[in-house]
Amino acid sequence: MTSKPDWSQFDFSHPTISNFKVETILNCSLKYKFTCDDKLPTAPARALELGRTFDLLCETGEIPDDLKLLNEKDVSIIRERYQEYRGLMPVGKRQFSFQKMVDYKDWSLIGFIDLVPDEFPNAPIIEIKFSEEKWTQKKASYKGMQAAIYAWALEHDWVQFHVMNFKESGLQTFDMNIGEIEIDQMLENVVRAIRKIEDGIREPEENKLCGWCDYQVHCPLFNTKISSDNEVEKWI
Ligand code: SF4
Repeated sequence: MTSKPDWSQFDFSHPTISNFKVETILNCSLKYKFTCDDKLPTAPARALELGRTFDLLCETGEIPDDLKLLNEKDVSIIRERYQEYRGLMPVGKRQFSFQKMVDYKDWSLIGFIDLVPDEFPNAPIIEIKFSEEKWTQKKASYKGMQAAIYAWALEHDWVQFHVMNFKESGLQTFDMNIGEIEIDQMLENVVRAIRKIEDGIREPEENKLCGWCDYQVHCPLFNTKISSDNEVEKWI
């Protein structure tokens, strides 16, 4: 949850891909078109603002006063969690960014990492969440590719990816170990995603995140084929 990515540090003279683009194109090429080709606006995300606000509190000790999506209860939860768990929050380099060539034509992979602990490589990379849903292996594995990208970007053989979920009812933590197998799998997925971007076909592809899609109103599938009881897992 980097607060303000600085895009000027990247070289966009060659094609670039990010974790967001990989996940989007592999899930649905039409959503990729809406988001990355057409750059249609998305709905503001409260979950992101929760995360960014917590991140800023950790960095500066203060909560900004220009919050748009959070109410007083949200802010008090953030303060309480910070007070309770600040001793557990590792000190590290924030807003670590990277751009590395992938082994495919002249594409590079770019990204930002929330927090790289000072003691790395043995300390975990931290991912902070605010969700009332319990994290499970299945939910955490959704983040596996992101964690593998981090490990690859940091040139580690492995990383421990540590999810801290600040539920209203208390802290939940979840660990994942990322090694060579996951990194190889991630790189295969990145190349698969690039090929899908290059093929230029942009079709709706029903997937379990359709219920969360900001572009339902533009999607020819959503109001017809996709049933109203499409299961949306309420996790972030
Ligand atoms: S609703 Fe589903 S199929 Fe339609 S664009 Fe969004 S993700 Fe793709």
